[in-house]
Amino acid sequence: MRGKLIVAGGGIGGLTATLALHRAGIDVMLYERAPVFADIGAGMSVWPNATRVLKSLGVLDSVVGLGEPVTQFNLLRPDGIAISRIAMGGFPTPALCIHRADLHRSLRQPLPPSCMEANQRLVSFAEDAAGVTATFAGGLATHADGLIGADGINSAVRAQLHGVADPVYRGYCIWRGIAPAVAGVVHGHISETWGSGRRFGIMPIGQGRICWYATQNCAPCQSDPPVGLKQALIESFRDWHQPIQALLEATDPSDIIRVDARDRRPLRSWGKGRVTLLGDAAHPMTPNVGQGACMAIEDAACLAKLLPSAATVAEAFRSYEALRIARTATIVRQARRIGFIGQWENPWIIRVRNYATRLVLARTPDMRLNAVYGYEV
Ligand SMILES: Cc1cc2nc3c(=O)[nH]c(=O)nc-3n(C[C@H](O)[C@H](O)[C@H](O)COP(=O)(O)OP(=O)(O)OC[C@H]3O[C@@H](n4cnc5c(N)ncnc54)[C@H](O)[C@@H]3O)c2cc1C
Repeated sequence: MRGKLIVAGGGIGGLTATLALHRAGIDVMLYERAPVFADIGAGMSVWPNATRVLKSLGVLDSVVGLGEPVTQFNLLRPDGIAISRIAMGGFPTPALCIHRADLHRSLRQPLPPSCMEANQRLVSFAEDAAGVTATFAGGLATHADGLIGADGINSAVRAQLHGVADPVYRGYCIWRGIAPAVAGVVHGHISETWGSGRRFGIMPIGQGRICWYATQNCAPCQSDPPVGLKQALIESFRDWHQPIQALLEATDPSDIIRVDARDRRPLRSWGKGRVTLLGDAAHPMTPNVGQGACMAIEDAACLAKLLPSAATVAEAFRSYEALRIARTATIVRQARRIGFIGQWENPWIIRVRNYATRLVLARTPDMRLNAVYGYEV
């Protein structure tokens, strides 16, 4: 394929796509609505299926240097007793946790600045026989051979293709924060603790920083109290095992971010003609399996693999969608299911849940991990 592509959206998905396409020799231009490419967000996990792609793009060393490898995942009860412990390893590339801003910067750095423009919010696109024209809020209209909508869960590209619809709220919200390392955090170990309608996760993300997250069943779109949120979280997790209290105590309240758990039902088709979707624009998911960005990274690698040898952009986009839709839909549903189970409140059902989870994870851990982490684009 010869020609130029537009990527709308400079999150992890849009940046990886731009880097992968640039490395594949394709003329690509990324437009991001934010005024600058800022370093934002909290911690995140990046699993071997995605680090494999990062390695192929030559950014894995930088990412490993900034983040922290994961050697074990512990699923715990609030008293600290393990429901399950899973050793991570045996994959060609590592699992790791990292600050989102560090991953973002690692993807941005190898790109020529001329490939990226901030402060450009795509508002619509129009396709004709010669290509696709993307129009931006400030008046810019740019023409290319194809458009990749990587503009997140509230994607404008998706809305034009499939209609405007709100994401689906899944009944709980998530607070995230970053604290300095405290006693009791084991480097390389990440954990999630399952209580009743609440969970708490701990992830060392490198450079002496620990990311935590807390979930709670609640009505959608509630705002946090302007003061006292940190204290409310400390109270809510008062009886839970250490170092949960220590992490909450050590967190600067201004570093606590709240988000509602939302996703969308998987689509049967993503794009049309010279337009396709990527990342959360295509398959937003709840964060329960830590795969949203990993799937966006896989999407990017898949597109860059198919485009150079395709006869037309539309042909490459349809082949890409045929390869990606089923896989990402499975992960969207898996994430939703785990969130649903993890947020159960009834104490008797919780006992059965914990017992059944222990059995399931003990019996087939390799098969389950391989299906997700062993995937090669
Ligand atoms: C609490 C939480 C924890 C998570 N943890 C993990 C994890 O551990 N591991 C993991 O893999 N995933 C995780 N995820 C999911 C992950 O954050 C997303 O799946 C991922 O960020 C999606 O990347 P994206 O580039 O597709 O979308 P986004 O990150 O949303 O980026 C979209 C970009 O497009 C821009 N944009 C939007 N509209 C326009 C427009 N009209 N024109 C131009 N630009 C536009 C936005 O400003 C943004 O920069 C988590 C999500 C949440 C909510």
